[in-house]
Amino acid sequence: MADSPPRVHDHDSAEGLISVEDARERVLSAISPLSPLALPLTDAYGCVAAEDMVATISLPEFASSGMDGFAVRAADVADASPAHPAELKIVGRAMIGHRPDATVGGGEAVQIATGAPIPAGADCVVPVENSRVHNETVQLFEAASEGRHVRPAGEDVKEGSVLVEGGKRLGPPELGLLANAGHGTPLVHPRPRVVVLSTGDELIAPTESPDFGQVRDSNAYTLFGALREAGAMPVLAGIIRDDVDSLKETVLDYLIQADAFVSSGGVSVGERDVVKAAFLQRGDVSFYKVAMQPGMPQGFGHIEGKPYFGLPGNPVSVFVSFELFVRPALLKMMGRSQVSRPEITARLTQDVAGPKGKMQYARVVVARGSDGWKATPTGARGSNLISTVSRANGLAMIPPGVELAPEGSQVRVMLFRAAED
Ligand code: AMP
Ligand code: MG
Repeated sequence: MADSPPRVHDHDSAEGLISVEDARERVLSAISPLSPLALPLTDAYGCVAAEDMVATISLPEFASSGMDGFAVRAADVADASPAHPAELKIVGRAMIGHRPDATVGGGEAVQIATGAPIPAGADCVVPVENSRVHNETVQLFEAASEGRHVRPAGEDVKEGSVLVEGGKRLGPPELGLLANAGHGTPLVHPRPRVVVLSTGDELIAPTESPDFGQVRDSNAYTLFGALREAGAMPVLAGIIRDDVDSLKETVLDYLIQADAFVSSGGVSVGERDVVKAAFLQRGDVSFYKVAMQPGMPQGFGHIEGKPYFGLPGNPVSVFVSFELFVRPALLKMMGRSQVSRPEITARLTQDVAGPKGKMQYARVVVARGSDGWKATPTGARGSNLISTVSRANGLAMIPPGVELAPEGSQVRVMLFRAAED
């Protein structure tokens, strides 16, 4: 019997691979929002409200004047005109930030500044432009109806109403509103602190000069930026040699200050694949292959309850895996309900070839053309080519089964930054 031909591994096939959707689901189903924390407003900025925030007061809290002038009773100025001014006695002043030093009775006026509380007894304000003062009296040349130039209490927010709904992200106006309403430490889902580890014997810091064969650690910085952009707090743990004990030790050292870990490198099939060697036998982290290019080998699990993302080492794989798995997970930890990037449909300006069994994420720059969005690839498909990401603003998805997406065909594009950035 003839020998069977040697098996050649086909890197483009989908054998033994899970789909991107399944991998995402695997990750997201194992992630929960971080427990709410009462944070000062400046720290709560950009975080998601963990509960409905209810006004315990009305806003504004007191009726105030919309003009510099005189607070009076409308009845006293009902017939006032330039020819027949109303003449009222000045009984006091109302200044900003103070209780008025008098109340307004019939035939009386209190001099008032814009923003100052309306004194009791007054129901309108006649602007200073329509007045003339003689000693203790003021002549008012204009009639005013009740409420004229008065900013009523409770006009903006009613006591008991919801200021900010749970689930809403605190942007600039929400911070201002909460501050105004006296909510100085709102309950929010905090930003996760994410420890970043770069594994590899070949790695050196970007400030060092490489010996032949050494590589400057770029992944830590890609991840730093991506984490910041997602709203998380990166903690760079530095370069870890391909040594199981140092990796385990470093991870354990950082446990106390970590809400999650992201490492790059060491998750594929080589014998020196340190992340796999360190965590596989503990059963905390699963390693699997996703039907995608770049970024096929992935590790994900929990170490002492903290999510651990073991990303592959190639720089483009790191970026794409972060976008597909880590970012959505972190947004979920931050209490966000929309965890996916926006997608558009664009027309390819060139042919794009893809591996047949996998979803290919082609780096493209999208721009608006006369007949809709156009997507132009920024370079070759190699997962080491980080400059192709730098020139791009989107990832075009060439689905499994499509070996060639021809020029002019429509593709889905995930936008990872604004087209004009
Ligand atoms: P690995 O997955 O560890 O086999 O790494 C795959 C490739 O990515 C190798 O060429 C590594 O040198 C490269 N690589 C791994 N980590 C980094 C890093 N932090 N910065 C730049 N390149 C890296
Ligand atoms: Mg490595």
